[in-house]
Amino acid sequence: MANYHPNNELLMSFAAGQLPNSLGIMVACHLEQCHSCRQQTHLYEQLGGELLGDLPEETVGTNVLSRILDRIDEPVSAPSLATLNQGDLAIPRPLRRFIPGSLDTLEWSGMTKSIREFDIEIEDPQFKAKLYKIGAGKELPEHTHEGNEFTYVIDGSFADKTCQYHEGDFILADTQTIHQPRATMDKDCICFAVMDAPLKMTGIFGRMLNPFMR
Ligand SMILES: [Zn+2]
Repeated sequence: MANYHPNNELLMSFAAGQLPNSLGIMVACHLEQCHSCRQQTHLYEQLGGELLGDLPEETVGTNVLSRILDRIDEPVSAPSLATLNQGDLAIPRPLRRFIPGSLDTLEWSGMTKSIREFDIEIEDPQFKAKLYKIGAGKELPEHTHEGNEFTYVIDGSFADKTCQYHEGDFILADTQTIHQPRATMDKDCICFAVMDAPLKMTGIFGRMLNPFMR
């Protein structure tokens, strides 16, 4: 059960179908796991429907969420992805068609041996989407963000100075956040991250890595 959730503003934008693609997919991943955010989103949809109540019914619709989830399941334009993807159930359903094959066979690239990343091709002019895999007990270099970074925990868990995050959690780091996420010892941590600016490394190790992080 998730402890960290998208804020109401995000859920409202999601219900209105107004989130950028990457972020919308991430919110959809969380909604699959989180009953209370699903309920909240349905409320916003109904509210939106009432506010727009004067418009002809077919243009309004009342169930944006299911329409969005349906759309996510539509075949991708690039057939290679669709055919490659046999559906790794470990990948959240809304994200699955963007990840070729399974998490185990993915061609991770990496900053280091224990910190791997994979660029996710989602059409989105604003945000970049990635998967991160942090080895059990390993940590990312301390960093802050020039923009916003949203993280969704797919598997495992990680901690920073103040909190611990688990599967299903939805986390926002902004320019005020300096953190050094560390995967817990029990297993690798896999996260889906969406960011609108590159990370900015703050520690010594971080500064060494900075030129490689684009
Ligand atoms: Zn939630």
